[in-house]
Amino acid sequence: MTRRRWIADTVSPPNGHPTHAALTGDQAIHLARVLRAEPGQIFNVVAAGFLHRAEITSVTGDRVDFVLHEELESDSALPLHLYLAIFKFDHLEWAIEKATELGVAQITPVLARRTEKHLAQAAVKRVERWRRIAHEASQQSRRTSVPTITDSTPLKLALERESAPARILLSETEQSLSLSKHLGAPPLASEMWNPTMALAIGPEGGWTPEEMSLFTQHQWTHVTLGPRILRAETAAIAAISIAGTFLG
Ligand code: SAM
Repeated sequence: MTRRRWIADTVSPPNGHPTHAALTGDQAIHLARVLRAEPGQIFNVVAAGFLHRAEITSVTGDRVDFVLHEELESDSALPLHLYLAIFKFDHLEWAIEKATELGVAQITPVLARRTEKHLAQAAVKRVERWRRIAHEASQQSRRTSVPTITDSTPLKLALERESAPARILLSETEQSLSLSKHLGAPPLASEMWNPTMALAIGPEGGWTPEEMSLFTQHQWTHVTLGPRILRAETAAIAAISIAGTFLG
């Protein structure tokens, strides 16, 4: 039988190899009250990025403690950093959930010129919710890592910080170079033995021409997903799926 998997909220010692872990808050309440957890029960627990067989040592109101036994085989995240220009929150949150299921390592919400003003302002407070969505989707999809959700970042700063060897802008105005052709073509394909990749998806109104040139200045390759204009969240999921086949 497949054991239920949990991602620990705290681990100890906090640095180095963890021996103990705990669930707190809603996760612990669910485990304690709904699943009637008791000391001695065994679950799979992700602690410090590694999956362990873990035994419950104590259950209190909103905390469940575990001692960690042996490490189990675990997957690793796709080395893919997804930049999502901020768009309508319900669509953006769907994209965060699905990108997490598909395995991305990091998601940065980007403040673009055409990000609606009220969304840009509200994004600051929303990031904690996005982290919770990523946490839940990681658990549900049985990942052993939760993607990092960076604070929302202005595009210029995001481009200055990114150093992945493959930097790819999804552009609805690119006519000829498809994402799969770009990823399959040398020299990129031959460099992919140690790949990290950055993908950027624009807002509902698209990138402005100035933003497109900024990407070019930072050596991002512009690629297309085909002749149809996709919603931003559709483009994100399609791009991650294609990239995933190259990243393994
Ligand atoms: N400016 C567009 C318009 O109103 O005609 C719409 C932008 S589209 C809804 C949002 C983002 O999804 C784009 O900036 C791009 O990153 C991505 N996208 C949509 N369709 C695409 C395609 N066919 N190829 C590559 N990227 C696409």
